[in-house]
Amino acid sequence: MMEASWRLLAEARRLLRRPAPGLIPRRLRHKKKWASTEPKFSPTRLALQNFDVNYKVQFGDLWPSIRVSLLSERKYGALVNNFSTWDKTASELEQLEAKDFVMEAQRRGRRKAFPEDPSAPALPPELETHCPPAAPWPCSPNLRCYTFTRGDVSRFPPSRASSLGLLDYYLLDASSLLPVLALDVQPGDAVLDLCAGPGGKTLGLLLTGCCRHLTANEISGSRTRRLKQVLQHYVPQDVSQVRVTSQDGRKWGDLERDTYDRVLVDVPCTTDRHSVLEEDNNIFQRSRKAERQMLPMLQVQLLAAGLLATRPGGTAVYSTCTLSHLQNEYVVGGAIDILASQYQIQVQVEDLSCFRHLFQDTFSFFPSCRTGELVLPVLWANFGPMYFCRLRRLT
Ligand code: SAM
Repeated sequence: MMEASWRLLAEARRLLRRPAPGLIPRRLRHKKKWASTEPKFSPTRLALQNFDVNYKVQFGDLWPSIRVSLLSERKYGALVNNFSTWDKTASELEQLEAKDFVMEAQRRGRRKAFPEDPSAPALPPELETHCPPAAPWPCSPNLRCYTFTRGDVSRFPPSRASSLGLLDYYLLDASSLLPVLALDVQPGDAVLDLCAGPGGKTLGLLLTGCCRHLTANEISGSRTRRLKQVLQHYVPQDVSQVRVTSQDGRKWGDLERDTYDRVLVDVPCTTDRHSVLEEDNNIFQRSRKAERQMLPMLQVQLLAAGLLATRPGGTAVYSTCTLSHLQNEYVVGGAIDILASQYQIQVQVEDLSCFRHLFQDTFSFFPSCRTGELVLPVLWANFGPMYFCRLRRLT
């Protein structure tokens, strides 16, 4: 393996594992055979202990409020199904006093491009510096997603089938639409969703109405079944441009190199919110320790494969639902190094700071990401965590 990968793995081990034996005071060391006497913490408690150690360092004074938010009830968004009776759905959601956060952001952007338009709200001054003048909408088009406003913790009723037999909206953490928006899918694009199950973002990609064809890949059998169910309940049968595959995404560089205009790499991660709340299927279970320690390596391999599958000039978005820099910015850096040194391919991180300002009414963004953007859970907008970074293949 590459030197960069080993460096990353060593760093991963350092941060995700207990300190190296040499660093543990002798009186606290125990032999392996005594390990059964080690206190048995539940996976959620282990997760919280791990986050308290690492995230206090990463986020400093912000950590206590992020911690409380992670442990509190999260907010949802209702992604409107454009394949169903979307206008009726939209007016029903408006009656609940929910707002389409994508349209609100579009209005902000339009106000920047056409300052005389009276229907658009005034721009905050900081947007002036972050969005280029007359910027076109820098996101995938045609998406409508409703959320309750700041501090409103109302819940959406379950989605119902419309007269067309399709469900009218899909409930998801609204911040998980940001990677789909950031992918900036354009009409006629060939799109790959490398880690697609259970399918929320795949649905988002299809709802843009832009995909000439979409490959949705998912390695796990059960999650592939859930992905197919989502497509069945939300997408008409005659929409034929979707192909579902169940490959190891790490092989995609060999399977279809230089092929796609847009690639979404939404990788497995420590799923921080799930890890502090749910004992079931928790990556902090003792039996999954090795899997957890190998996550950054798997993430680098998946992102590298996604970038290889992108055509030169095309873009990929890397995303996770963890706060961990090690699984976010370090992985982006590791994959860029691998592409440059092993394949002589140049990749550039694109500036998404414009997103921070377009969507500031709905989400709280971490102000100090060096690459990509990170949505922080806060009590007034309890979405995320969601990290996303857009990369352009230059060669
Ligand atoms: N994009 C999905 C959505 O929005 O509904 C969520 C994806 S989830 C964060 C990551 C997924 O990657 C999991 O379903 C997991 O089974 C899958 N996965 C893990 N290893 C993989 C691999 N080597 N190749 C492809 N998929 C993988």
